[in-house]
Amino acid sequence: MREYFKTEESRLHRVVCNCCGRELKVENGYLKEECISVDQTFGYFSAKDGQRHRFDICEGCYDKWLQNFVIPVEECEENELL
Ligand SMILES: [Zn+2]
Repeated sequence: MREYFKTEESRLHRVVCNCCGRELKVENGYLKEECISVDQTFGYFSAKDGQRHRFDICEGCYDKWLQNFVIPVEECEENELL
């Protein structure tokens, strides 16, 4: 869950993990720790057709989530990080 400053809509104010409720570190409008952001709009073949779901998950909750996967995520090394 993300909140932006009301006066500066593009400047990040606060990020809270939707799973555990922990507030993530934000400094000067920048997120200072890893976070997985999901923004999914469901289409015609879904029971949620037309709904948009957005949420943020901290890295700790992401790791717990992955433990429930039957097939592990694909991992590869990125040489250039932004
Ligand atoms: Zn969390």
